[in-house]
Amino acid sequence: MRIPVRVVLVGTTHPGNIGAAARAMRTMGLERLSLVAPLEFPSPQATARAAGADQVLEAAQVCATLDEALAGCRFVLGASARLRALQWPVMTPREAAPRLLAESAAGEAAVVFGRESSGLTNDELARCHALLHIPTNPDYSSLNLAMAVQVVAYELRLAALEEDAPEQDRSDPLAAAEELERFYEHLERTLVAAGFLNPANPRHLMLRLRRLFNRALPEENEVRILRGILSALEPR
Ligand code: SAH
Repeated sequence: MRIPVRVVLVGTTHPGNIGAAARAMRTMGLERLSLVAPLEFPSPQATARAAGADQVLEAAQVCATLDEALAGCRFVLGASARLRALQWPVMTPREAAPRLLAESAAGEAAVVFGRESSGLTNDELARCHALLHIPTNPDYSSLNLAMAVQVVAYELRLAALEEDAPEQDRSDPLAAAEELERFYEHLERTLVAAGFLNPANPRHLMLRLRRLFNRALPEENEVRILRGILSALEPR
């Protein structure tokens, strides 16, 4: 499964983070990496931290400016550890992932990540349609760059898997209402006969049991098994 969302890293200072980001992308099926003015790239440290995800590094596009990296992109999110004073729409990775997938079907979609020391400038964020913020401890909100890439890439993969999943095909239909009623009547008779349920003081027992069974969405054949068990317990 290939996820066509572009990851843009702006002004990365530690080449190791570039390699770790490439690895994070590769594990989740993302391939498009753009590097805007990296301090050092290519670099043996990046290659080492990529741990075999070299193809993402080799295909990485190195650009001088963010505008160059975003050329052709139609939907852009800026990943930010800080929520700015300036009101800008903010999404969690979980909210952003289906949007990014949907937009990338129509044109290119990208997520921009900032510098380790100072994040993205307001000028860079102004090029983004919305901010992407990974909810964190408010006292310490800054993730390592590659780890932020991992969280976003993981949510993209989950969203893509969900889109791919075939509609739930039930092997067996849910039990019909009347079958369930017959089961509950049978259960009640059995519990009374066993002396467990006192009809003079039922204490909502049947209601509680109904809630328990209904939560499991019993299927036709499962209700048949339960009825079979009750019949087998009946005194001969
Ligand atoms: N000290 C910087 C944080 C830099 S962390 C600052 O205060 O902005 C490097 C990059 O990782 C950030 O620019 C951002 O793109 C990403 N990142 C880190 N933590 C994040 C979070 N909680 N939500 C979204 N992106 C985050």
